[in-house]
Amino acid sequence: MIIRDQFDPDLRKLIKKKKQIAIIPVGSIEQHGPHLPISTDSDIVTEISLQLSDKINGVLLPTINYGISDEHFPFFNLSIRKSTLSRILEDICESLIKNGISRILIINGHYGNLDSLKSFERKQKNNRKIRVFSYWKYMDREFDHAGNVETSIMLAISKKVNMRKAKKGFQTDGMSKKEISKINKLAQKSFPKVTGNGVWGDPTKSSATLGRKIIKEVVNNLVKESNLTY
Ligand SMILES: [Zn+2]
Repeated sequence: MIIRDQFDPDLRKLIKKKKQIAIIPVGSIEQHGPHLPISTDSDIVTEISLQLSDKINGVLLPTINYGISDEHFPFFNLSIRKSTLSRILEDICESLIKNGISRILIINGHYGNLDSLKSFERKQKNNRKIRVFSYWKYMDREFDHAGNVETSIMLAISKKVNMRKAKKGFQTDGMSKKEISKINKLAQKSFPKVTGNGVWGDPTKSSATLGRKIIKEVVNNLVKESNLTY
């Protein structure tokens, strides 16, 4: 159920009748190479949260479109402070609880939001009903940035992909896990410096079919996880 489309009396009735689960998607606005829109993370996390809400009968809240993407500078990004994001979430959760919804799933769509979400989680540590999940941890493959995974997902859900502009970016082929994790840390400071063109991975062979498969995988794993949670 999409909360924005509901009417107050029906919504209050629903909340009274059954304990509802709220789902809050958190995205980002940042460069995703020349072939994906800057809304990519927000678009993907919105779709995954929508499908999750259908499967678990959850209440989908509006996506928080802004995240923390300073590592992409001087490429385009619109960023908020870490403390701002965790405060927004604190406020929304407090308001949800006041309105009778205390089971809350926060679905994160962007790596750079992790620090802020961790500090938010620490503050909620006594409240096991509020949980944070980063969606890419629920797929059976390595995540990328505007590479094969993200581009395939976007081909499956969006008309805004420009495959003619898709170019290979930074490749980890042949690198050890240690080397990858070292370069990952550098990328968290300056993504353009490490990748050159802002792309981590190879988007050129992406397909909507693979994208649909990955979404299914993630949503099913998240359903299992949220069943364990509540
Ligand atoms: Zn992304």
